[in-house]
Order: sequence, then structure tokens, then C-alpha cells
Amino acid sequence: MEWLLVGLLVPVAAASGYLAGRRGSEKSSGQRVTRLTSSYFRGLNYLLNEQPDKAIELFLQIAEPDSDTLETQLALGNLFRRRGEVDRAIRLHQNLFTRPLLSAEQRSLALVELGEDYLRAGLLDRAEALYKDLLQVDGQEAIALRQLIEIYQQEQDWDSAIAAAERLCESGDCSNTALIAQFRCELADRALEQGDHEGARSHLQRALNDQPDCIRAELQLGKIELQHSRWQQAARHFERVARQDPDYVSEIVKPLLTALDALGDRRRARKLMCELSQHERGSASLLGLVQLIEREEGREQAINLLAERLHERPSVRGVRHLLDLSFPPEADRESVALVRDILDKLLQREPTYRCGRCGFRPRALYWHCPSCRSWGTVKPIHGLVGD
Ligand SMILES: [Zn+2]
Repeated sequence: MEWLLVGLLVPVAAASGYLAGRRGSEKSSGQRVTRLTSSYFRGLNYLLNEQPDKAIELFLQIAEPDSDTLETQLALGNLFRRRGEVDRAIRLHQNLFTRPLLSAEQRSLALVELGEDYLRAGLLDRAEALYKDLLQVDGQEAIALRQLIEIYQQEQDWDSAIAAAERLCESGDCSNTALIAQFRCELADRALEQGDHEGARSHLQRALNDQPDCIRAELQLGKIELQHSRWQQAARHFERVARQDPDYVSEIVKPLLTALDALGDRRRARKLMCELSQHERGSASLLGLVQLIEREEGREQAINLLAERLHERPSVRGVRHLLDLSFPPEADRESVALVRDILDKLLQREPTYRCGRCGFRPRALYWHCPSCRSWGTVKPIHGLVGD
């Protein structure tokens, strides 16, 4: 934000200085440039002192007297929008757009800014119509498509978002394949809500075609296969999740063990949990392994392994499980019940996930961060109180 303001000020100051020089005497030009230079540094000082509102106010004072140049108009409109005066920005850009002497390129610039105003004001239908018009203008297709993708996301119109992203790829920018995969996963979720499992599978397979390491698609496919008792296929999807991104191991341990249990493949289950627990930063696969050992070798062996690993890598969830193994609930003592209760409250209170982009810490796994609106950046938290 701050450096953008500095960036805005430079053309404003340059254009104003040029105009002052062209219109006035050398003396007045010199005075004007001096005033601009002093204002510039005053503005910069506000920014350095983290007072962006005062800096914007100052920049507006500098820019308004010379508001007849296109650059200054665009800078002013941008400042209005950033100050939340979207109506003022819209009026300014609409007026600019209707000026008769603008070149096609300048008209497009004004149109792009007007679209930004509409988006900021939440006027999605107007912004959409404007960017669709811009699609027809030479050299503006890419910027219009990027904005349309943003609008369709806000409208949750996933089909249109995919179509716009694919068209952008055809025009040379294929940086949105991961985004397209997420949109297909959204379509799959919608199909699942309507009970259309086959439709959901088809969307998810296409998501994997777009982005072969799409964790969300693998995870969803695994869950669908599990519901249909296709254990082998389910296990394969969950294994791929674990191998592609160990941060998501906590999401697949339970369903993977369910699938392998149904297959009666205890050897594979134990081998996998052993492998995963070596690399996982959380405790889910260790607890899965402990569960298998308890079943196959008895409680004592399970306690020994868990206690040994907790020394190396302590975790509240692990201690909670150790408590259950050491003091089964049926033989509960008051003091043990108290510790169990405290640990449960500690685990319930802590957020389970965190967005790697903005730091938002929800208690559920969101694929589209509700705070910064990034895709695929929310992951399980690991560590002492994490999973
Ligand atoms: Zn975020």
C-alpha cells in the first residue's frame, strides 16, 4: 500500500512539474517544483511514520490542481477508491471514459479502473459486463479475463470461472491450472451435496488432469471410494495424499486405516504408519501405529512405543492418548479424570488449522481461505498442541 502510494505520487509530481513549467514563468515553475518536492518528502515521511491516511490527503492536495492530465486523473481515482470513496472514483472514471479525445489505449485504461471501482463497490454484474466488453479490445483480453475469473469466484459461478481461466491459458497464460483444479473440486462438492457421486468423481478426475498433485481432489476421491466400499481405490488415494504433502497426513490416517482394515491388510497398514510417523511433523500416524500395535501386541507394547516417541517429540494429543492407554476410562480415578479433562479442553480451545498466507487459524479445513481468499493455503497445525 505505502509503496503503491509513492508510485502514484511520482507520475503526479512529474506531470504537475511539467505543466507548471510549461504554463508559468521560470520563477513560478521553480516555486511549484520546490513546493512539490517538499510535499513529496512530507508525504514520504507520513508513510514512513505509518500514517497512510495523512499521506493520501496530501497527495490529493497535490494532484487535484492538475487534474486535467490522464495520469493524474487515474492516480486520483485510485486514491479515492483506496480511501473508500468508491462513488467518487466511479464518477471520475466514468467522466474520463466519455472524454472525446482519448485514444483507444487510454479509454481501455479508464475502463479497467472503472471495473476495479465496480468490484470494490460490490457491483459485480456491472463489473462483469464491463470486462466482457473489454474482452473485445485488442491487447486487453488477458487483464479482462483475470478480472472475470475474480468476479466468477465471488459469484461462485465455477463453470464460467473455468471457461475464463481456460481461455486465458489459450491466450498464453497457463499459470492458473491449480486454480482451475480448485474450481472443479467446488463443482464436485456441489454434485456431492446433490447426491451425485459419479458426477463428483468425474469433476475430481478432471481436476487431477489439470493439476496431478491436487491434494483436495485426491482426498475427496478417497472419501467417495470409501463410502462405496471400494477399499483398494480409497487406500491408493489416501496414500497419494500422504506422499504428495506430509502436512496433510493427519487428514488421511483414520480413513486409510479404515480402508486397510476392511481389506484385512494389517501388514501394509503397519508398514505405512511406520513410514509416515518417521516424517510427519504431527502425531496422527504415530497414534495410528500405536493403535495397531495395541491390537496386535498388546497394551504394554503400545505404551512403551508411545512413551519413547513422546520423549523425542512431545505432543498434547500423544499425552492424552498415553493417558487413555495407561488408565482406561473404566478404571478412572478422580485425579486422572481431571488431567484428561484439562487436556481435552486444551485441545478443543486450540485452532487446528492455519493459513500459510495470512495466518488465519480456523478450526475446520477450508480450501478457500475465508480471510485472505487464497486457495489451498490452509493446512493442519503441527506441534505441541497441534494435531
Ligand atoms: Zn488466508
